[in-house]
Amino acid sequence: MKAMVLHKPAPVETVPLKYEDYPTPRPGRGEVLIKVISCGVCHSNLHMIEGDWVRMGVPAKLPIIPGHEIIGKITELGEGVESFREGEIVGAQPLWSACGHCDYCITGNEHLCNSVQITGETVDGGYAEYFLAKADYIYRIPENVDPEINSPLFCPGVTAYRASKLANLGPNKKVYVIGIGGVGHVALQTSKLFGSEVIAVSTSEAHAKLAEEMGADGVVMAKRDYSNLSEHFGKGDSVIIFSPNQKAIDAAVNIVKKQGTLVVGVFGNINDFRFTKEINVRGSVIGPRKDMKEVLELASKGLIRLKVTKYKLQEANEVLRKLKDGEIIGRAVLLP
Ligand SMILES: [Zn+2]
Ligand SMILES: [Zn+2]
Repeated sequence: MKAMVLHKPAPVETVPLKYEDYPTPRPGRGEVLIKVISCGVCHSNLHMIEGDWVRMGVPAKLPIIPGHEIIGKITELGEGVESFREGEIVGAQPLWSACGHCDYCITGNEHLCNSVQITGETVDGGYAEYFLAKADYIYRIPENVDPEINSPLFCPGVTAYRASKLANLGPNKKVYVIGIGGVGHVALQTSKLFGSEVIAVSTSEAHAKLAEEMGADGVVMAKRDYSNLSEHFGKGDSVIIFSPNQKAIDAAVNIVKKQGTLVVGVFGNINDFRFTKEINVRGSVIGPRKDMKEVLELASKGLIRLKVTKYKLQEANEVLRKLKDGEIIGRAVLLP
């Protein structure tokens, strides 16, 4: 098969992904082979490819095929797979597998399992013609969900939905969503589903426009230092942050009301934490299979829309360069 393969992490301007022949995997017991229809291009792919996460042991192997937001068609079933048939359209998320028996796994929090395998980071991912998955960790795509543009449901979709779920949202509450990229533009929509007034924050005019298109109740064009966030709409009951900018995180702490909730979905530090405000701070990362299934239901009801641009698989280096420079509006997907 053809794939975009990473042999050595390097800046994306140096074209680190090579389009080349790669052995087509064969499904073992409990596994399925999927012919990739589309794979989303995630900011975390960029971090891994450029070597930002080498100190954390990512990628766990080289060469590796990146990509963890995947939709494709099952072409081969491994031994013992009874829950799927050949020809079915399915999706796979960053959670490639978990141990299945630890405390996290048995309580429906398998995305926190200490033995997870991560698609495109510890095992080969979806920047390829074929992708190998575990049958227990894939999802049937509803018929009215277009497989070419909905692969980002499997990372931004579930990530946004879980952050909204954890943000203590509800009617008569106001939530700020900071950072309107691939995840943020979905988080606006998933937050509205909980009945809250949703205010989008971005430093980019193009992203602010996207927020309006996606139904934000208000949009704040943030200054570079994020000092003007609460000027128009006051403080928020909740703040969800997907901007990987320390200044944005610092500002977020200050616009949460007393006893409000701050949900952090990016790396960063909570500086200037004031216990006297009794705020809740919590992290949120991707999501378990239950949340993923709920996201697919919402998408099939038309309640989650993705802003997606299609590219060819071979264009991955250039797409990642655009992502790095803030030129991707919504999400880019690669089609083999
Ligand atoms: Zn992702
Ligand atoms: Zn486990």
